[in-house]
Amino acid sequence: MTIPAIKSTLSIQTVLAHYGLKAGAKGAMKCPFHDDKAASMKVYPDTNTAYCFARSCEVQSVDVIDFILYMEKCDKRTAIMKAKELCGGPIVKAAAGKPERYSWRCRQTAYASHVRSGR
Ligand SMILES: [Zn+2]
Repeated sequence: MTIPAIKSTLSIQTVLAHYGLKAGAKGAMKCPFHDDKAASMKVYPDTNTAYCFARSCEVQSVDVIDFILYMEKCDKRTAIMKAKELCGGPIVKAAAGKPERYSWRCRQTAYASHVRSGR
């Protein structure tokens, strides 16, 4: 899976949800990358990017991969791996011999149990 493919497949909302974050009605939310008192971050679902307007913040414009990178404080390579996981679904062929479907099934199971416990 190429980086452009990830960026077009993985929505910023999916990434936010993964970290327990959610943008408000106008796409504004508290920036998770600095001590944000206001909602300095704006999420752009159209482009799958987010932007922090706080001048003190180390991040400004982030795409889905950068978002993961900053959240995990990992390197780009790890962030891309993580992004692929979050894309879910049967990802093309598991070329590296990695069980890429695993996370998807895992998530479905988690979802199913969530639904059950919601009753
Ligand atoms: Zn910020």
